[in-house]
Amino acid sequence: MFSPKEIEYFNKIKTPFYYYNIDRLKDILTRVKNASERFGFVVHYAMKANANDRLLAIIREFGFGADCVSGNEVQKAIDMGFSPNEIAFAGVGKSDDEINLGIDNNIFSFNCESTQEIEVIDEFAAKKGKVARIALRINPNVKANTHHYITTGLEENKFGINRWEFDKVLELLRNKKNVKLVGIHFHIGSQITDFDAFKSLCIRVNEVQNYFIENQILLEHINVGGGLGIDYEHPDNLDVPDFDAFFKLFDRFLELRPKQKLHFELGRAMVAQCGDLITRVLFVKNGINTNFAIVDAGMTELIRPALYQAYHKIENITSKLGIDFYDVVGPICESSDTFGKTVQMAETKRGDLIAIRSTGAYGEVMASQYNLRNLAKSYYSEDI
Ligand SMILES: *Cc1c(COP(=O)(O)O)cnc(C)c1O
Repeated sequence: MFSPKEIEYFNKIKTPFYYYNIDRLKDILTRVKNASERFGFVVHYAMKANANDRLLAIIREFGFGADCVSGNEVQKAIDMGFSPNEIAFAGVGKSDDEINLGIDNNIFSFNCESTQEIEVIDEFAAKKGKVARIALRINPNVKANTHHYITTGLEENKFGINRWEFDKVLELLRNKKNVKLVGIHFHIGSQITDFDAFKSLCIRVNEVQNYFIENQILLEHINVGGGLGIDYEHPDNLDVPDFDAFFKLFDRFLELRPKQKLHFELGRAMVAQCGDLITRVLFVKNGINTNFAIVDAGMTELIRPALYQAYHKIENITSKLGIDFYDVVGPICESSDTFGKTVQMAETKRGDLIAIRSTGAYGEVMASQYNLRNLAKSYYSEDI
């Protein structure tokens, strides 16, 4: 929902653009903070969901850590004032430069995804006379019940270390003096709305913990990643996800040992609902079954529908006419450049403004310049 003042402001700006509602962001962050602090859990913001400076500054102010998946994200987190000892660095393919950057900055942990990666980190840390903190990213083989492109915790996925490799890893760690094992890490996928998947994860984490305890290893940290889904059907509903229920579930089912800290890496759930993509209708034309509303944003500004068949709610925010059905499509020369099919919207004409909702996560950050398009700008509710 947008106020008349917002729409008046939108009408003066060149489309397409990203719009961020800062009050909403703060509302969501407050919910996350209150719900997690109740249990003493530590939340790192997964920067890949949205690395916009203004948003990052606010997230930092709230006191969250950072979860990074590239060297540039690690550097950005440091530049934005996140403390290196709150930065977790995951990724199945860290380059030599990225590993060195993490070691030089004494980051909280490298989440290691293979035995070879551990060997390389140990070798690089030894050269610098340092000890790098590492966590093992474990593939829990838990189904996330989400789109197969954003499922990461199954044995068939490229991520993490599998159960049958544990003995080999412990053997390796016994001989490596420049890495320190501080924890275990899991991340089973994204846009997960089925809480049973998280319950299964807890049970698997307990089993993995038992293995380490049997091997006389007490880990300081357990990191269960992110993946908490939002309600794309109802963008104005901030009661989903239910952060209280989410953290409570982990408190109830995951068996923490004394002094152990439980960490989370939430991305989407923290930022998705504070952002929208605002675009203008260029042309309307009749198709065989529906009409086409051709808008000036495309997969270059929001690739999720093309990449994951993702649903985003689409609203005509300037028309007051009756209802009709439209395929809302972008200008890019790809048939997948479609935001929604048979979308029910107010009767639409050239020049109307369309809001594609819930684009705060994996929107701006995945933008490209395909077709030599300009990158869209961002605007903020605070500036109106
Ligand atoms: C992407 C990612 C996250 C965040 O996922 P969301 O679904 O946005 O919460 C957390 N941890 C790791 C390792 C990731 O790759």
